Parts: sequence; structure tokens; C-alpha cells
Amino acid sequence: MKRSDFLKIITLSPLALAAMKLKALETITQELTRTEKMPVLFLGHGSPMNAIEENEFVTGFRNIGKGIPTPKAILVISAHWETKGTFVTAMDKPRTIHDFGGFPKALFDVEYPAPGSPELANETKNIIKKTQVGLDEKWGLDHGAWSVVKHLYPKADVPVIQMSIDYTQGAQYHYDLAKELASLRKKGILIVGSGNMVHNLGMVAWDKLNTDAYGYDWAIEANEKMKKYILTDEHQPLINFKSQGKAFDLAIPSPEHYLPLIYSLALKEKNEKVTIFNDKAVAGSLTMTSLKID
Ligand code: ZN
Repeated sequence: MKRSDFLKIITLSPLALAAMKLKALETITQELTRTEKMPVLFLGHGSPMNAIEENEFVTGFRNIGKGIPTPKAILVISAHWETKGTFVTAMDKPRTIHDFGGFPKALFDVEYPAPGSPELANETKNIIKKTQVGLDEKWGLDHGAWSVVKHLYPKADVPVIQMSIDYTQGAQYHYDLAKELASLRKKGILIVGSGNMVHNLGMVAWDKLNTDAYGYDWAIEANEKMKKYILTDEHQPLINFKSQGKAFDLAIPSPEHYLPLIYSLALKEKNEKVTIFNDKAVAGSLTMTSLKID
């Protein structure tokens, strides 16, 4: 071998190695090919009973599902998975988690056997630069995910993964983190935030559970203000929810049900519209208000 050839080989080999790595990465991500941009949803999930009841909210979820092209997979940010750091579920077969108490057996009997998507978990981990995303093998699908996704895809034939909410971080952090998910929309991924805009369990009017559209004044006030900011693309006051006065303080006593909204809004592009549905208060201190962004 000529000395110059030898040198060429040793200088090219790291490059060749890099090229091989790139090729392997391409193979992994090839399955998530480019598609038309998928909408983004925020779903007000309310009571877990919505999973098995027939009511107007369930009808709203079904109708919105019918108007969306079938996704390759779904990524849910649920109010019910809070962690230190950010994780995505990476198992092949996520279990159905019945993370509630005091409900009828019929609700505990519900299984939502949608497959997971280790590919999407990996891709999500790779595109997020803001933090190191962990791959989780233990969680599954909590009721924030399955109680609503089951109405969109009752056959459980679309893979679903969850991304956790880092409870150590504020709303601005979550808003910025969510923006890094934007490219998934063009790969057939439906991103769903699942929580409630107004959610104060400590103030639920239990005697008004079956009264149609019952909301306390502060709940209605906060919900209306939130909608106004959403429809005028004023996201900063929504991110700074802690300095919006008494109605917001009562509507968001803890942030976990509200932050999924911040994830969904962060993914809205300037030219996109917001469709509001299921816009009703229930039991005084909750609103079911949900959004489709496309
Ligand atoms: Zn909830």
C-alpha cells in the first residue's frame, strides 16, 4: 500500500464512521416520514367518568377526531404525569393506568391497549435540545391520556406515547420546550395536551355535578380571559398566569392541569386558527374548554 493511500484511509475512517452513524439514524427516523402538518389539540378531560359516559363532551371529542387525518402516532402531554426532569414512554405496549379512586368498577375495567412507539420516543428525545429527555419503561397511559384518546381512536390502533411534565420548571420553560416538538407535526404525529384550563378540585360544587354548564363567576371570568388571549395570540399573559389576578389564582391552584395548554399553544404557528369546542363549565370550578389548532 502506498503511504498516501494509507493516510487517506486513516484520515477518512472517522468520516466514514460518522457517515455510517448518520445512515443508521436515517433508518431509524425513516419510518416517521414527512406528511401534511397535523393539527395540535388541547383536550379538557374533566372527570375520568367521561371515559365511559355518553355526554356532549364525548361527542365533542369524537367529532374532532373525525376531522383529523389518522395520525401515525400520538404524543400526549397529560396533567397526570409529573416528574423531575422530562421523560417519554418508550415501551412497545403501554399499560392502562387507573390512576384514580372512588369510581365505579366499570371505569377500572377499561383497557386501552394502543401500542407504544419506541421510534417516536427516540425521535422526541433526539429533537429536544433544551433538556436531556429520559426514556421511560414503567409508566404507560394514565387516564389523562386514555380517557380522551379512546374517543378519538376507539379501536386503539394508533400508537400513543406520553411525555411527562417536569414539576420543577415554570410555564415559560414548558412553552419553550414544547416549541422543540414542532417538527413532529410534519411527520404525522398528533400532539395532544390533556388537562383543564380551569381546574380547582378543592372547590368543586359536588351538589351541582349534574347541573348543566355550572361555573362560579371566577371560573367563567378566568376561562373567558384565557380564551381571549388564546384567540388573539397573546401567549405571554397565559405564560405569566401567576400574575393575572384572583380569578386565575382560583382557576389554577396548582399548574399541572393548566400546563398541557401551554404545550399546545406553544405549537401554534402565526397563520393557524384555533377552534374552540366543549366550551362549558362543570361543577363550578372546572371548565372542559378544548382547542384544535390547525
Ligand atoms: Zn385530570
